[in-house]
Amino acid sequence: MALVKIREILDGKCENTNVTIRGWVYRKREGKELIFLLVRDSTGVIQCTVKKASPAWSEAEKLTIESALTLEGTAKQDKRAPGGYEISAEAVSIVGLAELFPITKDKSEEFIRDMRHLWLRSRKMNLVMKVRAKVLEYAREYFEKESFTEVSPPMFISAAVEGGSTLFGLKYFDQNLYLTQSSQLYLEILIYSLEKVYCIAPSFRAEKSRTIRHLTEYWHMEGEWPFADMNDLMQFEEGLMEHVCQKVAQNCQKEFAELGADINKLSEVKAPFPRITYAEAIERLKVKNPALKWGDDLGYEDEKVLAEDFGKPFFVYDYPTAIKAFYCKTYRDRPEIALSVDMMVPKIGEISTGGQREEDKDILIKRMKEQDLKPEDYEWYLDLRRYGTVPHAGFGMGLERLLTWMLDLDNIIDSIPFPRTTRRFYP
Ligand code: ATP
Ligand code: MG
Repeated sequence: MALVKIREILDGKCENTNVTIRGWVYRKREGKELIFLLVRDSTGVIQCTVKKASPAWSEAEKLTIESALTLEGTAKQDKRAPGGYEISAEAVSIVGLAELFPITKDKSEEFIRDMRHLWLRSRKMNLVMKVRAKVLEYAREYFEKESFTEVSPPMFISAAVEGGSTLFGLKYFDQNLYLTQSSQLYLEILIYSLEKVYCIAPSFRAEKSRTIRHLTEYWHMEGEWPFADMNDLMQFEEGLMEHVCQKVAQNCQKEFAELGADINKLSEVKAPFPRITYAEAIERLKVKNPALKWGDDLGYEDEKVLAEDFGKPFFVYDYPTAIKAFYCKTYRDRPEIALSVDMMVPKIGEISTGGQREEDKDILIKRMKEQDLKPEDYEWYLDLRRYGTVPHAGFGMGLERLLTWMLDLDNIIDSIPFPRTTRRFYP
């Protein structure tokens, strides 16, 4: 009586043997002589049949959807069963009998979202969370391969990183603090000690707009390193994307197949990626949108149009300084242009922003003042330019945007187990 995971049976490793599985009832269909159960565990779903003559019958009759159980029987190949294998049950024991499960086929999307704590048991969410874990694993693998050190930045911060409009403030004893929007400035501190650093940590944005690509809490993969320029940055980012996409394409085939997502687009992700300047992007977009002019920020719609042309990840770089944060380095001979780069993908648009950071203290102070920021709030940041300043670059990529693109999800909220949006923060 071997205790096995359902995946082992589906992989043909337990044929004609006596097995025991532990899991939950996923579906149940009851006939006069036969009960069909679909049982799920973390690894998969398998069909189990219980015959009236079997000693398991009376327990099987009592089972309700989502009841926890142990089931023992003979595993065999059966072409008619979903997954190609089934267990002919000889013993069933109820571990936890479920009350009437609220999620049924006819329920609305809204209802399902309200039942997130139960919906996370669905096949879809199970598979998405597995791919998510793999993406994290492969991203870390790439950073480590490139000799980056993982660091742990703070979530409570005293000054805004980006503009103040999407900042969450909070009471911190008798002071006002914020939740971090990006760990970039902290990574900039750490490069002077560890050189190549990265973190995978939450970022918080008070995004009021409801879009398919914004959360109020998301996981941000950020890297920063010294002696780096724009070319180093783009090479690293495309290398990271290639590595993650190739590894997922190799190792997540079952998950993609069951989710009905196209895995081939991931095998096709290979460096180098196309690169166009912001000015070229504006020229391309003007054809469809003549009102657009140099200096305008690219919106979601513009990014989608650009991305449709490429049909794969690409870079847009050299943005106008006026639409970029104070820390972005500018060309010495063209101060109106910032050394900044976004990576974009089809349907989602921007998935990362990066760039060279201003290493000159006086230019940095001037840029802060232009943006109505108080240099005295950033004394520690200015110290980095006082003591051994160095050209450096870095980027931040949203894990959920990456997953939404990879898995072709309709909305970013399905890429994270407990999405936080303007309206959702329960449980
Ligand atoms: P957008 O213009 O789309 O709101 P942004 O330019 O403000 O994004 P950045 O500050 O550049 O975002 O953040 C770096 C990356 O973090 C983005 O490229 C994106 O992948 C991700 N990101 C930013 N805001 C969010 C959010 N609200 N929800 C999920 N991911 C986000
Ligand atoms: Mg950005």
